[in-house]
Amino acid sequence: MSIKNHKCDVAIIGAGPVGLFAAFQFGMLGMKAHIVDTLAVAGGQCTALYPEKPIYDIPGYPRIDAAELIERLIEQAAAVDPVYHLGQQVVALAKADAGDRWRLETSTGTVIDARIVVVAAGAGAFGPNRPPLPGIEDYEGKGVHYMVLRRQDFAGKRVVVAGGGDSAVDWAVSLAEVAEKVSVVHRRAKFRAAPESVNRLHALADEGRIDLVVPYQLAGLEGDGETLRAVIVTDLDGNSRRLEADILLPFYGLAMSLGPIADWGLNLDHHHIVVDPATCLTNYDGIFAIGDIATYPGKLKLILTGFAEAAAAAHAAWPMVFEGQELHFEYSTTKGVPE
Ligand SMILES: Cc1cc2nc3c(=O)[nH]c(=O)nc-3n(C[C@H](O)[C@H](O)[C@H](O)COP(=O)(O)OP(=O)(O)OC[C@H]3O[C@@H](n4cnc5c(N)ncnc54)[C@H](O)[C@@H]3O)c2cc1C
Repeated sequence: MSIKNHKCDVAIIGAGPVGLFAAFQFGMLGMKAHIVDTLAVAGGQCTALYPEKPIYDIPGYPRIDAAELIERLIEQAAAVDPVYHLGQQVVALAKADAGDRWRLETSTGTVIDARIVVVAAGAGAFGPNRPPLPGIEDYEGKGVHYMVLRRQDFAGKRVVVAGGGDSAVDWAVSLAEVAEKVSVVHRRAKFRAAPESVNRLHALADEGRIDLVVPYQLAGLEGDGETLRAVIVTDLDGNSRRLEADILLPFYGLAMSLGPIADWGLNLDHHHIVVDPATCLTNYDGIFAIGDIATYPGKLKLILTGFAEAAAAAHAAWPMVFEGQELHFEYSTTKGVPE
């Protein structure tokens, strides 16, 4: 078997908070998990959208930053040793040749044969809303980034933030503390972010620590195709400005698209997968959906809901993996975690 072919009990699509906790829950019941995510790092929305924001409604943590929650979930899952396949999208899901197993295929050619599939894909695979600038792809991952993982990466740099929503405003405010210069380009003078953050943005602009470039929009990039030198912006009258920059952060939202998941024959309701709320089973034997992507009457899109769904799915899946055997319910306090 090549290293791109794997066989396991459960394949989890999505390494967001809920997918990570599912790996732990399934592992605690003796089911070995492989986890796939399009992003190069685990954490889903917590990592991609708000790593440095505190979350206040995780049971047992009065306050925890999203990035730290993900670190803890990875640490917790490590006890059951899941296998990660990051930076690759699950593009195909079909019945495997043998029996009642499933076969997943990813965009990089990894193939996973699993009895159980858990779709923990959130709102779908993340992809940035790219501004239509010629040649922007050449700079992606170098001078152009659609998300910030560590603000320290931009310390001492000239940063242009584009957009008018929460991400643009929050990151502009945060990066003003470490960057050499921060310019914020928005096509309106008014920002659509939390009022406190907008007030902070204006205060920093008044202090000369942020350059508000409004109402302007992105018009072009200047550089050698490797290193960004400047961002060109224009106003509605066609007047242009050249902003010297090492980094452009376009925050026009992440488009989350169900992508290939929509083609797998799962029962969908407005881009969500319909499940039985007692088990999180979909319309297919052996395929479960949990977390933000799963829907049923009264569904609450919260991390803690997803955690409970992971536990329910693991218990419902167990008899499918261990056919003919009986599951004796045990608390984690009784059985501990695998050594
Ligand atoms: C700004 C903000 C603040 C929030 N604050 C809170 C809060 O305070 N409390 C709270 O409970 N919730 C909060 N939420 C919501 C919370 O983040 C979500 O409920 C949670 O992330 C859902 O987790 P998930 O694992 O189901 O999905 P996600 O976190 O969306 O992760 C899904 C993962 O699946 C991957 N994926 C999708 N399709 C594929 C595919 N085909 N192949 C491979 N990978 C795929 C995606 O790339 C993604 O990484 C907040 C959300 C935002 C945006």
